[in-house]
Amino acid sequence: MAGVNRTAYRTCPLCEAACGLELTVADDVVTGVRGDRDHVFSHGFLCPKGATFGRLSDDPDRLRRPMIRRGGRHEEVSWPEAFAAVEAGLRPIIEGYGQQAVAAYLGNPNVHTMAGGLYVTPLLKALGTRNIFSASTVDQMPKHVSCGYLYGNPLAIPVPDLDRTDYLLMLGANPWESNGSLATAADFPGRLRAIQARGGRFVVVDPRRTRTAEHADEHLFIRPGTDAYLLFGIVHTLFAEELIDLGRLTPYINGVEELRGLAAAFGPERVTAVCDVPADRIRGLARELAAAPTAAVYGRIGTCTVEFGTLTSWLVDVVNVLTGNLDRPGGVMFPLAAHLRPNAQPGGRGFTTGRWHSRVRGLPEVKGELPVATLADEIETPGEGQVRAFLTVAGNPVLSTPNSDRLARALDGLDFMVSVDPYLNETTRHADVILPPLDALRKGHYDFSFLALAVRNFAAYSPPVLPPGPDGMDECDILARLILIISGQGAEADPALVHERLLEQALSRAGAAGLRDTVSGDGPAERLLDVALRTGAYGDRFGAVPDGLSLDRLLAAPHGIDLGPLQSRIPEVLRTPSGLVELAAPPLIAEVTRLRDALDRPRPGLVLIGRRHLRSNNSWMHNVPALVKGRDRCTLQIHPADAAGLALTDGAPAAVTSRAGSLSATVEVTDRVMPGVVSLPHGWGHDLPGVRLSVAAAHPGVNSNVLTDELVIDPLSGNAVLNGIPVEIKPA
Ligand code: SF4
Repeated sequence: MAGVNRTAYRTCPLCEAACGLELTVADDVVTGVRGDRDHVFSHGFLCPKGATFGRLSDDPDRLRRPMIRRGGRHEEVSWPEAFAAVEAGLRPIIEGYGQQAVAAYLGNPNVHTMAGGLYVTPLLKALGTRNIFSASTVDQMPKHVSCGYLYGNPLAIPVPDLDRTDYLLMLGANPWESNGSLATAADFPGRLRAIQARGGRFVVVDPRRTRTAEHADEHLFIRPGTDAYLLFGIVHTLFAEELIDLGRLTPYINGVEELRGLAAAFGPERVTAVCDVPADRIRGLARELAAAPTAAVYGRIGTCTVEFGTLTSWLVDVVNVLTGNLDRPGGVMFPLAAHLRPNAQPGGRGFTTGRWHSRVRGLPEVKGELPVATLADEIETPGEGQVRAFLTVAGNPVLSTPNSDRLARALDGLDFMVSVDPYLNETTRHADVILPPLDALRKGHYDFSFLALAVRNFAAYSPPVLPPGPDGMDECDILARLILIISGQGAEADPALVHERLLEQALSRAGAAGLRDTVSGDGPAERLLDVALRTGAYGDRFGAVPDGLSLDRLLAAPHGIDLGPLQSRIPEVLRTPSGLVELAAPPLIAEVTRLRDALDRPRPGLVLIGRRHLRSNNSWMHNVPALVKGRDRCTLQIHPADAAGLALTDGAPAAVTSRAGSLSATVEVTDRVMPGVVSLPHGWGHDLPGVRLSVAAAHPGVNSNVLTDELVIDPLSGNAVLNGIPVEIKPA
C-alpha cells in the first residue's frame, strides 16, 4: 500500500464535523493535508486540527506496543504477554467477586472509530456489569434524556437545518471553535455566514463573548446555568401573545396545555432577575422565532453541563415545536444515516431511566450507564459490589470528569486496571496493562455516530491509508480478545470467533441470514458496515435495489455520496408508546417544580465556566506541537471589574478554590466574560508523573476538573455540572 507521493482521501475523525481530507503520502508518512475540495459535504474545508492529522500517527510518544506496569514503571511487552496479564488480572476478580466488581469507562474518541461503534457494546455485554460509565455524563446525556422523553428514542436528536434556516438561536454553543456538536456540519462557520448572506440572522446566548458570538448578529450574555429560565420566558411569551403555531405537526403533539400551565410561573420579568437577559429581549426572541419564515433553536454543551441540563435541552425542542419548526425544512430535523433504517411504523416502548441504581449514591441508570460523577464512590466504598477492576477504552477521566484528584486517588486503590489507549496519559498511568490500537491512518473509517447527526444526509467510508505495521493490532481484534478473556475462553482464543459471531448476528437481525458469502469487506468492521449499509435506508438489499448503497459503492466514491437534504420524518421517527411527541412527560414536569423553586435561590458569587479552543480537543491533542504553540491558552479569564475588586492583575497567578479542590491559574483580564463569571478551558493539567506526553508536559496548563464538584449533577440525566461552579479567587 505504501508508495511515493500518492494521494489518499480520508474522513477526518478528530471532531464531529466529518470533513473530507486529501492526504499526500510519501512512503509511510503523511507529508501534506488539504481539505478535499470534491468532498460532497465539506467541500474543501479544513481546520487546524485536521491539518495536523498525520502528526498524531507519527507522534513519537504514541504507544505502538502494549505496556505492563512493573515496579511502578510501564514497560513494553509483546501482545501475548499483555493479554496473558489481562487474563491473570481480570479473571480472578470476576470469579471471586462477580461481574459488578469490574467497571468500564468509555471516552469520547469511541464515537470516532468503527471499533467503538461496533465492538464496545458486545464487550460491555460480555462484562455483564452495571458499572458502566462514559464521557456522555460529562457532555450530552441531558439531550439524550430529553429526546428520549419527547420522541421515545434517546438517539433521535433533531439538528438545526443550517443550510435552509432563516433564523438560528444558539445557546451554550461555540461552533466557531468546536466545529459543532450534536449537529455534524463541516464548515459550520461558513454555514452560519451563509444564513446572514441570504438575509437571515443568528443570535448567540452565552456567558462569554465567544468567537461565534463575535460573528453573530446579536450576542446576549446570560448567567451560567440559567438557560432554562430564558427558554421558559420565551415559552411563556409564545403562549401569552398567542404565537403558538404547531403547523403540520398539530395532530402529532401531546401536552401543549400542560405546558401552558407550567410556563405561567416563568414570565420574562420573573426570569430576567435570574438569567440577566433583559425581559424585553426575551419577548423579542419569542417574537422573532415565531415570525421568521423558518427558525431553529440549538443548544449545546453550555446547556447540558448544568444543574437543569435535561430541562434546558427539553425546552430547546419545546420552543422549536411551539413555533412550528420541528421536522420542517429550515427548522430542526431528524437525519437519516445510511447505516440505519426508518421505523416500520410510529410508536414503540418509549424511554425510561432507573432500570438499576448505583450502589453508593443510588443514582439512576440512564441509557445503560451510571453517572461518571459517582465512579470514585463505587471504587472507594467497601462492601458487596465494590469496584475492584477497571477497564477504560479511549478515555481520560482523570482530566475530564469532576473532582479529578479524588478519582486519581481512587484509581490507585484498584486491584487491576486495563486500558485500551494509544497514550500513557493521566489516566492510563494507573493501568496495569495498556493495549494501544492502530492509529487512524492504519484503519478504515465510517462515522456511525455523526452521520446520524449530519445537517445533510451523506455517506462516506475511508479505507486504511497505511498498512498496519509489524507490531500493530487493530482495535477490533483487541476488543474481541478482551471479550474472549472476559467470557472465559482464554487469552489465546482466536478473535475471528467473535468477528464471525457478530457478523452472523448482524445478518440475522437484518433478515439476511445465509448471505454471509455475499458480504464485502477486508476487515471485521468493514463486513459489519457492509451489512448495515445494504440493509439500511438507502441500501442495495443484497442486489434487490440495483442503485442502492453497499460498502463497494462507498469504496468507489472516495469523496462520499450525497443523499440529499434532510427530509421530514414525523411520525415515523417517533418511538413513544402513543406514537406522538410527548411535550409533558411526567419526569420533566416534576423537575419543573424544582426549577420554579430555584427561582428564589440566592445568587452565587463568582462562578466558573469552561471554554473551547479551535486547536484543542478535550484532553488528547495537546501532544501535537502545532496545536500547542504560541501563547498559553489555559488562562483564567475574568472581567475587569471583578479583577479590580479582587486585586488580580493580568498575567499574575490566582488561587482558585471550590468545594472540591483548588489550583493556581494565570489571570487573563478580559471583558469577553460577563461580570461574576470566570472561565478556564478543560482537558489540561499534563504535569503528572508517569505520563508519556512530552510536548503536552511542556505546556501543561491546569486541570479545571480539580474544581468541578462530583456531588452536583443534573438529576434526570446524571450529567455532571461543569458550568456554573461557585469559586473563590484571590491573588496567589
Ligand atoms: S473541523 Fe473537525 S473534522 Fe473537520 S478538519 Fe477540523 S477536526 Fe477534522
